[in-house]
Amino acid sequence: MAAMLQPQIILLKEGTDTSQGKAQLVSNINACTAVADVVRTTLGPRGMDKLIHDDKGNVTISNDGATIMKLLDIVHPAAKILVDIAKSQDSEVGDGTTTVVLLAGEFLKEAKPFVEDGVHPQNLIRSYRTACYLAIEKVKELAVSIEGKSLEEKKSLLAKCAATTLSSKLIGGEKEFFASMVVDAVIAIGNEDRLNLIGVKKVPGGTMRDSFLVNGVAFKKTFSYAGFEQQPKKFLNPKILLLNIELELKSEKENAEIRLSDPSQYQSIVDAEWNIIYDKLDKCVKSGAKVVLSRLAIGDLATQYFADRDIFCAGRVAEEDLQRVAAATGGTIQTSVNNIIDEVLGTCEVFEERQVGNERFNIFSGCPSGRTATIVLRGGADQFIEEAERSLHDAIMIVRRALKNSTVVAGGGAIDMEISRYLRQHARTIAGKSQLFINSYAKALEVIPRQLCDNAGFDATDVLNKLRQKHALPSGEGAPYGVDINTGGIEDSFANFVWEPSVVKINAINAATEAACLILSVDETVKNPKSESAQGEAAASAMAGRGHGGGFRGRGRGMRRR
Ligand code: ADP
Ligand code: MG
Repeated sequence: MAAMLQPQIILLKEGTDTSQGKAQLVSNINACTAVADVVRTTLGPRGMDKLIHDDKGNVTISNDGATIMKLLDIVHPAAKILVDIAKSQDSEVGDGTTTVVLLAGEFLKEAKPFVEDGVHPQNLIRSYRTACYLAIEKVKELAVSIEGKSLEEKKSLLAKCAATTLSSKLIGGEKEFFASMVVDAVIAIGNEDRLNLIGVKKVPGGTMRDSFLVNGVAFKKTFSYAGFEQQPKKFLNPKILLLNIELELKSEKENAEIRLSDPSQYQSIVDAEWNIIYDKLDKCVKSGAKVVLSRLAIGDLATQYFADRDIFCAGRVAEEDLQRVAAATGGTIQTSVNNIIDEVLGTCEVFEERQVGNERFNIFSGCPSGRTATIVLRGGADQFIEEAERSLHDAIMIVRRALKNSTVVAGGGAIDMEISRYLRQHARTIAGKSQLFINSYAKALEVIPRQLCDNAGFDATDVLNKLRQKHALPSGEGAPYGVDINTGGIEDSFANFVWEPSVVKINAINAATEAACLILSVDETVKNPKSESAQGEAAASAMAGRGHGGGFRGRGRGMRRR
């Protein structure tokens, strides 16, 4: 009775849902493990793909961790962190997105029994941080530099890295073909940081093998007017004029008002419009350009005018493409046709309009600045080409990373096994509980080779035992041994060119540890009812139907507890 008379302290709004303590932590860990389970099967060359189709009926087939995580539309607040690390891994290094999610999930899974047994999360976090530091030092120590090689040698080494990335993708069957294409493209753009200098164009139809690389720029023929067919479609060493203006007869009836006192003046107004456009066109022709591109429309009058003078033109060229043409041909995009000097015109060895599958392409090759490359992708279904593009993006990023940092480590789980062994060994020198935590961290790293085996249908325990034995050799010669994805045994992954740039591993370990520590440090979740209802119309209307009952139920529960 006395308890009921005590004033109740109301801190948060009614309907606020808070949960805290160990139970909350464990539930967060469970959510993250569930997310990791989703992408688990996509890891490695024998990984499976996911087909995701959204409420709008878009279908995406992908093997890329970041893409899948993005499309999953995860709402769990803690599990969202995993989505973020996958995204950041994707933008930072481009590959290893599945790896990072798997590792984070596994670190948490290993931490769960400790949390349940009452270990304070901060102890775990401290040990995990130490382990992460040691692991990264070890990766750096094991990394092999590919610096100081000739261009040819370097190319083949980079192609190995690209091939490792591609081997786990849908286009893995043609990995050598695409790997060398990617390497050529990346080398073509040199030290440029702008990734969009490598264009990827998708043309449905044909087979993968019909894909090709243009050392320069290619884009789909733009919308064109009558007269276009009379224009020449091939030039050698043409001058190229790039514009950002409209070459169209403007009838100003909508946005101008002119008062005339004498009907005879009317003709002069009409003439003025024609004079303006003819003046512009004349200046373009005088510049000596043989190819005129504009980001804005080039109308029928202009098209015919150029055709009569043997000039090729294309209007409404996408911004991105125009910039790439500018970079490649050394031209500058003009916003006025007055005073076009020779310096602003670009040039290339060959310009031509060519048929690719069902589409016509404008292709600029042999560009003097050579700072661009375009990959034209062919293939059957749309989803297939989309996934191929994503895979190429991974490979391009990897090659660029490898080119910049130029150190690689053995893939196929070899590096993970080696760090794991090293950490276990190190743990033995530590007194106290920390030893156990570091051991768990080491065990978590084994998830990569284990999953590679599982996905390929091998006996993971068997392979892992072999790997552990090999890596334990005192001479250290077992370090580069990883899973042999073809036979189900183990192989010297480094000697077999399963290579990954070391930044991929370093970044993945760092991000996964960060995420795990972050989730371990959360012990309370407060759900604010207001902010939840603000989440989109759909959620609100969906709730509206159930809102009443739900509210009652909620209150009912509260009453009972009191
Ligand atoms: P992520 O999104 O993390 O890059 P992937 O599905 O691309 O995931 O798988 C990458 C893993 O597959 C890496 O651990 C890599 O070492 C491994 N791997 C790639 N090619 C091979 C191969 N030929 N043999 C064994 N392992 C490989
Ligand atoms: Mg990959």
